[in-house]
Amino acid sequence: MTGDVPDPLPGWLSGAGRLTVLTGAGISTDSGIPDYRGPDGVWTRDPDAEKLVTLSYYVADPEIRRKAWRMRADLRAGDVTPNAGHRALVDLERQGRLRALLTQNVDGLHQAAGSSPERVLELHGTVHAVACLSCGDRTSMDSAMGRIDAGDPDPACLVCGGILKSATVSFGQALDGAVLDAAAGAAADCDVFLAVGTSLVVYPVAGLVEIAAAHGARVVVVNAEPTPYDGLADLVVREPISTALPRLVARA
Ligand SMILES: [Zn+2]
Repeated sequence: MTGDVPDPLPGWLSGAGRLTVLTGAGISTDSGIPDYRGPDGVWTRDPDAEKLVTLSYYVADPEIRRKAWRMRADLRAGDVTPNAGHRALVDLERQGRLRALLTQNVDGLHQAAGSSPERVLELHGTVHAVACLSCGDRTSMDSAMGRIDAGDPDPACLVCGGILKSATVSFGQALDGAVLDAAAGAAADCDVFLAVGTSLVVYPVAGLVEIAAAHGARVVVVNAEPTPYDGLADLVVREPISTALPRLVARA
């Protein structure tokens, strides 16, 4: 079924006790964070922007690093707050029905909305921390921003002098194996797998849908554009996320 959220909800959805949710950029666009691949996406409008999040360029070119830090500092000025979509998933957790919240987003808005940090698996890392590419030392983004503000355009690791980068997964960088394992476990262990605002084209994350379906979960896709998994889904919703999610998590 494809369209708006059905009213009433199908019984397998309103009665589901264990939902695993996967979110992508689409849930944060209503908070003013642009997505990457959509019609107004960052990479669609400026292909060079992709260099800033590609590990080989970042490591090889100090100017790319300076630009990445400058962009991070500029973004910080923006007022970014969670929206109704994020809050609906907090409600789902309060209902005791959230198995896990897997996200491709690095913005921390699920936790800001009130989702328990231990339920959120950040598959692509977070912009709220920085990590050294040599020794792995982690510090807060705030401390890095303090050094930027003090005039260091490309702050180095204070432990070993290595290159620092936001603790996000860049192109050419592997996902955290433990996080991915936990995500696969949550996909295999749910009644309903709900994929929200993700184009489901980036592996291995997109494969989580296959894992869920293979273990018998119903699959719901909420996305403005078609995804490769629409044919496998039991329900496909095209309605905007910030109105669709509150309706999807409401109980019949
Ligand atoms: Zn280091």
